[in-house]
Amino acid sequence: MAQRLLVVEDSKPIATVIKQIAQSLNYEVVLATTLAQVEEILSVDTDFFAATIDYALPDALDGEAIACVLSYHIPSVVMTGKMDDLTRQKILAQPVIDYIPKENSQAFLYLKRVLHWQQTNSQNVILVVDDSFSARNHIVELLKRRNFTVYTANNGVQALEKLKQYKDIKMVITDLEMPEMDGIELTNEIRKKYSRELLAVIGISGASNGIHSARFIKNGADDFLRKPFCPEEFYCRITQNIESLNNIAQIQHAANTDYLTELFNRRAFFSNAEQRIVEYTKRNIHYCLAVIDIDYFKKVNDNYGHDAGDQALKILALYMRKHFGAGLTARLGGEEFSVLLHGLDTDQLYNKLDDFRRDISVSTLSCGDNQITITISIGVVFDSREALAKQMNDADNALYVAKDNGRNQVVIFGSDDQ
Ligand code: GH3
Ligand code: MG
Ligand code: MG
Ligand code: MG
Repeated sequence: MAQRLLVVEDSKPIATVIKQIAQSLNYEVVLATTLAQVEEILSVDTDFFAATIDYALPDALDGEAIACVLSYHIPSVVMTGKMDDLTRQKILAQPVIDYIPKENSQAFLYLKRVLHWQQTNSQNVILVVDDSFSARNHIVELLKRRNFTVYTANNGVQALEKLKQYKDIKMVITDLEMPEMDGIELTNEIRKKYSRELLAVIGISGASNGIHSARFIKNGADDFLRKPFCPEEFYCRITQNIESLNNIAQIQHAANTDYLTELFNRRAFFSNAEQRIVEYTKRNIHYCLAVIDIDYFKKVNDNYGHDAGDQALKILALYMRKHFGAGLTARLGGEEFSVLLHGLDTDQLYNKLDDFRRDISVSTLSCGDNQITITISIGVVFDSREALAKQMNDADNALYVAKDNGRNQVVIFGSDDQ
């Protein structure tokens, strides 16, 4: 169901712009142009995900609508034409998500970002570490207003336990002075295990000289806030750091993923396979590495066109996901794929590969208007102690034999077939 946004705005052109922005983010918009209308709407229906509130309305010139909407616990962004310090302070004294001066078109771009964060922030998990209950609560309250998912800890030792327990934590906001383990030591410990690409640390301290910020940063923190801080600065720092983490994650995903099939690409396959094989070898777990190639794929392109060929590659990738759930799957390039499987014994692993081969050979793939059948050949090495590049090479050699022997078959490296 669409999330509902209450837009309180008496200017028609501005209301139209806000409505367009909200709809582009899939919000369902309800518009009120006066305080009286806001009261009327909220008296029967308070089910709103968020609200944008114009500071001055014809019947509420001095921000009275803000308190009204907030009394229903609806997270609210205030839009204001007034820029003076008193207005700003009056707005920020209330638990609003943010306030945006309606100066220029930049204001609406910013509003769009705020409304988008509100929808996505629950995926951003933050750990707040402070021994003072009131200081901790203040930060938690600010974060919850923005829909972040929040955990808390009283000191560094507890924080490390929480990090172990909740793997999805993206950011740690830590006080400096705490019993058992202080913020600097915590940051230091965190950096032994968690890289800056995966976890951001923001240090907080009340001390007035700059030495603590430098110490935090030198021990691996990404940013620093001095107490007392205003909500705007707090939100800016948090958002910037979360956005940069998310950008890194996106870039890494793009760098590791094959654009057509969304499987791992060759590079990601190599680095992940290498780690997994070390683990399998250490724990004596059987595994196999297979290279899969579509038979006569050139003909598919020749007969049905390149788009249909692309479609066939995508469908093959879906079959790989279905058959090899826990395995590591990748598109090495062109019409060549690979999979690293582990399991109880070698027969089962072989059967998994051969079942996959058979399933493909009897399936009809719907590629646009065409119904296409394909077969695949597979070369595989079992429990090899060779370097990964050599294993790939061996699997490739077995694949050539499968092709030579008539295709649509699995050939094991080193077997009599070879
Ligand atoms: P074989 O059974 O010996 O593997 O024959 P083949 O035709 O599959 O092998 P060949 O290596 O001669 O040709 C591979 C073809 O795969 C050629 C190329 O047009 C096609 N191909 C490679 N990448 C893509 C792709 O991304 N999309 C499509 N549609 N075709 C691709
Ligand atoms: Mg403290
Ligand atoms: Mg081929
Ligand atoms: Mg090929």
